[in-house]
Amino acid sequence: MSDSERVIIIGGGIIGLLTARELRRRGRSVLVLDAGSGEGTASSGNAGIIAPGHFPIANPRQRSRALKLLFDPDSPLYIPPRFDVSMLRWLLGFRRACAPRNYRNTVEVLNHLSRISAEGWQELMQVDSPPGLAASLRPEGSLEVFCEESSRDDARRDATLLHEDGFEAELIDGDELRRRDDAFRDDVIGALVHPGHIITEPDRLLSALRTHVIEAGVTVRSNTTVQGILADRTTCHGVVTEDDEVFEGGSVVLSAGIWSDGLARRHRIRVPMQPAKGYHLMVHSDHPPRLACVCRESMVAVNAMKDGVRLAGTLELSGINHRLVRRRLDLLIQGASRCIEGLDEAPILQRWTGMRPCTADGLPVIGAMPGMADTWVATGHGMMGITLGPVTALLLGQMMHGEPMAMDTVPMSTDRFN
Ligand SMILES: Cc1cc2nc3c(=O)[nH]c(=O)nc-3n(C[C@H](O)[C@H](O)[C@H](O)COP(=O)(O)OP(=O)(O)OC[C@H]3O[C@@H](n4cnc5c(N)ncnc54)[C@H](O)[C@@H]3O)c2cc1C
Repeated sequence: MSDSERVIIIGGGIIGLLTARELRRRGRSVLVLDAGSGEGTASSGNAGIIAPGHFPIANPRQRSRALKLLFDPDSPLYIPPRFDVSMLRWLLGFRRACAPRNYRNTVEVLNHLSRISAEGWQELMQVDSPPGLAASLRPEGSLEVFCEESSRDDARRDATLLHEDGFEAELIDGDELRRRDDAFRDDVIGALVHPGHIITEPDRLLSALRTHVIEAGVTVRSNTTVQGILADRTTCHGVVTEDDEVFEGGSVVLSAGIWSDGLARRHRIRVPMQPAKGYHLMVHSDHPPRLACVCRESMVAVNAMKDGVRLAGTLELSGINHRLVRRRLDLLIQGASRCIEGLDEAPILQRWTGMRPCTADGLPVIGAMPGMADTWVATGHGMMGITLGPVTALLLGQMMHGEPMAMDTVPMSTDRFN
């Protein structure tokens, strides 16, 4: 197969690698170019909860909280005051998405996506090479634990909605929770159990997935930053890197996470997103929780991994930056130790920050780049990129090959911005 027939994927995060796998399975020659070495981005530093049925952050409750978020640096969702036209525009879109009817439409689309994606994860759990891929995925379910009565009411409402949408969810009290896992403090009064969630160690998952696609015949090249796409209305020729190296290809997929918008704009195409900065701490604990959980009041996720316990969360709209803000990191310890024994003094092994690519309407962007032949976008997964990886790859594979689609992709198209 000549170079002009291959697909070039820009970005080797979870979306890029799963897309590479899907296209390779369709017999395409695939080259993945990644600016880094695959470490340190959202796909490796996230909380590791594959959560079908997860609710979007743009919800009717956030609408009234917008002002509080603007000024409270201790809020799990924080927007430091700054003047930025694109962010103001994004916030207006976010506010629109919080309107009850828009919210309901978004939930419907996300639920449809996550049901298909869950099947994809089930299939990936059967993969036998490398062994680390299946081993990095644990179908154990997750918990949302809470300490306040108002959270119990919210959890009860959420359980009803999840049942209506066909997802499993069980509300249990604090005593039952401690019978299942005694790492939880007495202050925790209950939990919403999500039996269908899959727990993963993101760094291991990403590295095993990279090995898996390479074994399948995909070429992955690290430390290669793409600067532009070589395509016009009728033909796609490939990409050019920052070092002026040209890679020929007949199709290009842009899956560079939060950096996708900058690249698309060089071609006068908009994929407006905000980097929703999150943090994690790896800590050592002698008595980590066996079950992965999210502490509902603080929105801190706790996932015990081989190399320590990951406390992950917070969402800050402060632009693309990798500053580790002490106050935000402290919130992770405070939020987690309110629910789990022994974390307040736990030795810190690693501090990390990374960016979720968030669209204002809470939906990913999956579709063709307008006005450019054979050029595609897959990004904007916000808090759900791991969860929605397999369905994104599947839909893109179907689109690129003119196959019948597993679902309607119009709500995810780039046309909504251009
Ligand atoms: C704290 C935190 C917790 C999270 N928890 C969860 C969770 O529990 N479950 C879940 O489903 N999701 C979670 N997420 C969200 C999830 O991590 C993201 O949605 C997902 O990783 C996005 O994947 P991606 O491949 O689109 O982007 P990225 O992971 O950002 O990967 C993009 C890749 O593109 C490369 N790149 C960028 N620019 C260029 C260029 N010009 N040329 C070549 N390569 C380039 C980068 O090097 C990078 O490797 C969390 C995120 C955070 C920050």
